[in-house]
Amino acid sequence: TAGHVNWDVTLALDRLPRPDGESLVTAQYRSGGGSAANVAVALAGLDVETSVIGSVGDDENGLLVRRELDDAGVGIDGLATVADAVTSVKYLLIADDGEVAMLGNDGVNEAVGPEDVDSERVRSVDHLHLTSQRPETAARLAEIAADAGVPVSFDPGRRLPDRDFSRTFELADLVFCNDREAAAVADLAESLAADCTVVVKRGADGAAALDAEETWHHAGFGVDPVDTSGAGDAFAAGFLAARLDDADRERALTVGNACGALAAERTGARTDLSWGEVEDVLGE
Ligand code: ADP
Repeated sequence: TAGHVNWDVTLALDRLPRPDGESLVTAQYRSGGGSAANVAVALAGLDVETSVIGSVGDDENGLLVRRELDDAGVGIDGLATVADAVTSVKYLLIADDGEVAMLGNDGVNEAVGPEDVDSERVRSVDHLHLTSQRPETAARLAEIAADAGVPVSFDPGRRLPDRDFSRTFELADLVFCNDREAAAVADLAESLAADCTVVVKRGADGAAALDAEETWHHAGFGVDPVDTSGAGDAFAAGFLAARLDDADRERALTVGNACGALAAERTGARTDLSWGEVEDVLGE
């Protein structure tokens, strides 16, 4: 899985900030973050051998992120440490309904350029999952994978409207987006490969998926959301783990929702999942 790896500082508010300054911070915690790393940790918890391609700075936060990924069983050989750079830190504001607002910049998150991509690493995997990153890097990774017959999934994240990911969309077999990003993906429908499946994450309403022939959906699992940061990444990990285990697409959507629900009811963007917990949510 390739893309952002960073450190999150989360402030839980009694409501999102308002100009009158009435918001109250009720808790503060740190957790690893970055969409690629979140997906990788969740996949590792679901017994999928996973490694990450991305970058951190040569500072304490970078070391912490490396150690945390290593401890979770995620391969970090493809995680570059960039000299004289600062590991990206994001500030997440969590409202009392678990909804998230994010501040901060991507910093060294985008240090991996197309020229830095290790082709052999990409060719050797069973699946490549791409998250938010420089469009030219995403396209290069997707091209190498597609040439080698490696399936590609892509979650462009909130940057989608500002960036030209059309080449990556052409090559992706699977695209993840949320309700807010769905309109931008619809605008790109002509760039999508004919056999591409688009999965739309719909928060408390679960998720829907569509390909050229059919649409299907799953209503999700009712939980009391605490912090929905990383829920979409846990969802993607669940969907991918199920598909890599030869589950059909309906089952993958259900497993994705179970993982997203588990993430929503826990603090932090990282979700350390296990099949036992997923089966509990599924009532199995
Ligand atoms: P993203 O985090 O990418 O914006 P969503 O907010 O749609 O995406 O959340 C991803 C998935 O997490 C949803 O499809 C759903 O499975 C699960 N999820 C998120 N919020 C809730 C919630 N309040 N209750 C139950 N499941 C949720």
